[in-house]
Amino acid sequence: MVLPSNALASARLSRLKIATSCENTGKNKVLVVEDSKSIRELLCAYINNLHAIGADSAASLGETKTLLANRAREYFISVVDLNLPDAEQGEIVDLVQSHGIPVIVMTGTVDEKVREAMLRKNVLDYVIKQQATEIEHIAYIVGRMYENRQFKVLVVDDSPSFRHYLAALLENYQYQVLQADNGLEALETLRAHPDIALILTDYNMPRMNGQELIQAVRKDHRREDLAIIGLSDASKTGVSVLMLKCGANDFLSKPFEVEEFYCRVTQNTNMIGYVRRIKEHATRDFLTGLYNRRHLFEVGTHLYNNAKRGNCRIAIGLVDADHFKRINDTHGHDTGDLVLQQIARTLKQTLRGCDVIARFGGEEFVCLIVIKHDEDHLAAFERVRKAVADTRIQAGDETIHITTSIGVSSDLGESLEDMIRLADKAVYRAKKNGRNRVEVATRLDKNSINQLHAD
Ligand code: GH3
Ligand code: MG
Ligand code: MG
Repeated sequence: MVLPSNALASARLSRLKIATSCENTGKNKVLVVEDSKSIRELLCAYINNLHAIGADSAASLGETKTLLANRAREYFISVVDLNLPDAEQGEIVDLVQSHGIPVIVMTGTVDEKVREAMLRKNVLDYVIKQQATEIEHIAYIVGRMYENRQFKVLVVDDSPSFRHYLAALLENYQYQVLQADNGLEALETLRAHPDIALILTDYNMPRMNGQELIQAVRKDHRREDLAIIGLSDASKTGVSVLMLKCGANDFLSKPFEVEEFYCRVTQNTNMIGYVRRIKEHATRDFLTGLYNRRHLFEVGTHLYNNAKRGNCRIAIGLVDADHFKRINDTHGHDTGDLVLQQIARTLKQTLRGCDVIARFGGEEFVCLIVIKHDEDHLAAFERVRKAVADTRIQAGDETIHITTSIGVSSDLGESLEDMIRLADKAVYRAKKNGRNRVEVATRLDKNSINQLHAD
């Protein structure tokens, strides 16, 4: 294969960032086995550019044995050349698989014999390495496998052997796999794991069949939030249409080609991944990763209505950074951004997971907290104030110190907006009274809000 001279450099430069929630699962490395130095280096460069993924490489079967002896547990996947100088018959595949590492094969040519041999060996994929673009494609496949680890897939089939076969195929592709024997069991599993991304379901099953399952799932889960692939015997006419009409995203006839199975599964989890990412972007503030103002009102209104019905008690804290303009003026806007990110981290660390924390405006944050007792919210926001004031933020050589003024309201008023307005009045007083302090909204504040409504 001839590589363009700038291929390696462009591989280093390109940012193939893969967003994923699975960065801490330990196994973050790829094993690359390839005797051609240029291909090996190019592939490793592409892989090292993938966010949070690293590569180790070997040039022969012998070198691979040495690497695996010490580090086999670090690899979640491998990319191997089928023909190595010391192993010309594909022995490398068996060696790597014997350590429980899934394999992507690189080969010079793929004829029907090679393809069948690869499928028998249960390799993830095979790529013909004739062009540099194919090497980039391998890195893309590796990135996809890494992303697959975030997806839960539920396999529903009353045949244990077929269910286990599907589960093994999916696990090979790094998905988290759950299994159920029939529709009813599947619904129970879905209740316990509401983040399931894909269901693969058979049609004929005892207790609840595939069609009934799909109808039940679709009452609460839309096609773009949870994908369903129906599976059934090819001889049964009309079943595919039935399942699709009931809400399946896709259908596969049994028996199927393994490659077609993987294509359909990948297309569906890809779609779910895109939708999840779009939703994430729509609800989060880009700089701090906190909820944005719109999402605060979406989630907050739900909590507010519950509090109005007497089911829980809530309080609002409006946290405003003190003299923030000075930080920008003294240290620059980028450092100002770092300070905002640190305040966001401190808020998350200090408050609880069930509290709703949002960036409300430039240097203002709204925290909607669930409280048990009368004074809890004061204690909580006093903790927040102190935690921010005690934090030293390192920006290059400079150490920055910031404080906040916090206005608190636990009076529900007429709306969530009212609660925030009340908290804002209290912030104003906190600023007037010297900053770096917590003030609670008063009856006077309430009167002025009521006056606003009357006008
Ligand atoms: P006070 O103590 O009275 O709240 O003073 P302050 O300087 O914090 O308040 P002011 O409202 O005068 O200034 C807020 C500043 O926050 C001005 C604006 O440029 C800055 N700001 C808003 N959004 C961002 C941002 O995303 N990044 C950075 N670095 N600065 C921001
Ligand atoms: Mg402000
Ligand atoms: Mg401010």
